[in-house]
Amino acid sequence: MHSQQPVTVIGLGPMGQAMALALLGHGHKVTVWNRTPSRADALVERGAVRAASVEAALAASELVILSLTDYDAMHTVLEPAAGALPGRVLVNLSSDTPAKTREGARWAAGHGATLLAGGVTVPPSGIGRPESSTFYSGPRAAFDAHRPVLEALTGTDYRGEDPGLAALFYQLGMVMFWTSMLSFWQAVALADAHGLSADDVLPHAVQTMSSMPDFLSFYARRIDAGEHGGDVDRLAMGLASVEHVLHTNADAGVDTALPAAVADLFRRGVHAGHAADSFSSLVELMKRPPAWPGGKPGARRPRDGV
Ligand code: NDP
Repeated sequence: MHSQQPVTVIGLGPMGQAMALALLGHGHKVTVWNRTPSRADALVERGAVRAASVEAALAASELVILSLTDYDAMHTVLEPAAGALPGRVLVNLSSDTPAKTREGARWAAGHGATLLAGGVTVPPSGIGRPESSTFYSGPRAAFDAHRPVLEALTGTDYRGEDPGLAALFYQLGMVMFWTSMLSFWQAVALADAHGLSADDVLPHAVQTMSSMPDFLSFYARRIDAGEHGGDVDRLAMGLASVEHVLHTNADAGVDTALPAAVADLFRRGVHAGHAADSFSSLVELMKRPPAWPGGKPGARRPRDGV
């Protein structure tokens, strides 16, 4: 029923190109527009229609998929063509903050369009695979109406009406992805200082990362129950351990920014009186950081007047 539905794709970086290809593969009439027109060439050869302008791209389909660097790019592209927005459903799969996403949804509504926000959790190679997943949020009716087409891109994971939710879930993944990958780069740099290659330490790295799901489940339950008792681990022990990590990296002459930041958090937890608690107590510190350097966690600056 949906196979011939027209779809417009605006933004043809690696992600937008993969999306347009997947939609063509499902038999949709795909109209494309990109700031740098030559990036549409290969898609046009595969059957996509190149729109001569953003207005023409918007006019071609009710469903418009945006795959741009961020929401600022959306405004740059769409504001001059705002007259063509009424009645469009914009599925913005560009990543940004929840606040920018909500503001973008309000802006679209103000111009008569509906914005569904998305957060793609896979690289371009994962597009076109049902086992891949994308977070969506925004008006449920618009999501339900266009879900069959969106499933040509990846599996769908609708998180709720608030347009910021898809961006939030995306960012939850990214904060873990970037810090986890940097932790691997740190280990590789340390190994290199000792004459070992990334490949040499890979099995140990994989084994260490593979143990994480058990830690996450164990601590998530305790955190939600407000349990930070030192029955399993103690923050004071953790601080000694992260100091060893910091000194091992310093001794090797590699960059210490990451282990120093970790040690700093542990030290602040001990100074806040949690030495005998679990290191999960750091979550409470992170929820309510001091408002100024040296301030007590959760305290307000004196000049706030309260
Ligand atoms: P790119 O940065 O490679 O492509 C960005 C696209 O945005 C290009 O089409 C570019 O046009 C366009 N663009 C950027 N700024 C402007 C502007 N001011 N005016 C007009 N057009 C503009 O990104 P990707 O394709 O890799 O990713 C797209 C989105 O998907 C991003 O938000 C990214 O975070 C997200 N994402 C990407 C993943 C990945 O692995 N690539 C994974 C998950 C999410 P031009 O060609 O003219 O430069």
